[in-house]
Amino acid sequence: MHLIDPGTAGEHVRRAATLLQSALGASPMAAGRASGRVNLIGEHTDYNQGLCLPLALPHATYAVVAPRGDDQVRAVSTLAPGTYAGDPATAGGWAAYSAGVVWALREEGLDIPGIDMAIASSVPVGAGLSSSAALSCSVAMAIAALVGPIDPEVMLRATMRAEHERAGAPTGGMDQTVALFATPGEALLLDFADGSRTPVTWAPPGLALLVIDTCAPHDLADGQYAARRAGCESAAAALGAASLRQVDEPALAGAAEAWLPLARHVVTENRRVEEFAQAVAAGEWPEVGALMTSSHESLRDDFAVSCDQLDVAVQVALDTGALGARMTGGGFGGSAIALLPEDRVQPAMAAVASAYAGRHWREPRFLRA
Ligand code: ADP
Ligand code: MG
Repeated sequence: MHLIDPGTAGEHVRRAATLLQSALGASPMAAGRASGRVNLIGEHTDYNQGLCLPLALPHATYAVVAPRGDDQVRAVSTLAPGTYAGDPATAGGWAAYSAGVVWALREEGLDIPGIDMAIASSVPVGAGLSSSAALSCSVAMAIAALVGPIDPEVMLRATMRAEHERAGAPTGGMDQTVALFATPGEALLLDFADGSRTPVTWAPPGLALLVIDTCAPHDLADGQYAARRAGCESAAAALGAASLRQVDEPALAGAAEAWLPLARHVVTENRRVEEFAQAVAAGEWPEVGALMTSSHESLRDDFAVSCDQLDVAVQVALDTGALGARMTGGGFGGSAIALLPEDRVQPAMAAVASAYAGRHWREPRFLRA
């Protein structure tokens, strides 16, 4: 049981450069970096024109690149076997997020040469910490460093398109926005109604944010996500609103319909994000913790996207002295977060690991945000 170390930029860039040389025989000409992220609060709100508050992690993905004489792409990663080699327009699998960015930047009208690229990363893959956007955005940053400045909004569109159109993973844009626009230790208040992003400094004194990767298998996630999304649309339609963002709590009172719990989560979660940002700014850390825990309860009871591994991680963290804890990400697995006094971090990790071992679940992993 240990904490996943973010490592240093120099160390990761050296690993990637060595891989570029050894696997592809190319010399690195430019490098790019993009952070993973953890969502502090505001879950299942992005597709309801709502609010969320993701925090950039110190854990990041690094890409090194070299130009080629033709228009093809080759890509290698310390975390993927083999080499992708070919036309970036047909890249699939992990190459969709790497080679696919070359395709997407060309689709945006940029003149991008063929590229050889190598990737190294400290972002755990598939843990709900956005390794996919860290990958695509690190490649975009490296290409910008190679060919000259690229408008960040073009990089945002291109990395979203690589993920949607090459990898077939429709996401709301939160992940790429954080990877491209936030520095580690900075949170961004994102408003999906007007597209605004407001930096929020996250530096709780004497407290740590522990990320618990449940490592739970989350096979259910896709179908359940679509069902929740459709449920929210029906709820908004039944209330005569364009989206649940336009609905307030009094408007829900008295409704007995099946969609009520879903709508109640989204409407109260938007309010919690606003209160959370205010409490962070005011340094009211017990209130910050309480809002995290109510967010978890709402996701568990009203939105029904938690699972036993997430609930146990949250409960054990609270029992070990966390000011607050919640699942983060879409649910049915992925990660939980806990806001803890520094001296409770190790006890909480030990208690969660032992609770999982006692239930014969996969061993959880930990990192500090
Ligand atoms: P998350 O973004 O939450 O980690 P996703 O399912 O969205 O999970 O993305 C994970 C996928 O991204 C992996 O299956 C792989 O295709 C790709 N990926 C992410 N990081 C890397 C990496 N360092 N090397 C190779 N592929 C990666
Ligand atoms: Mg992802």
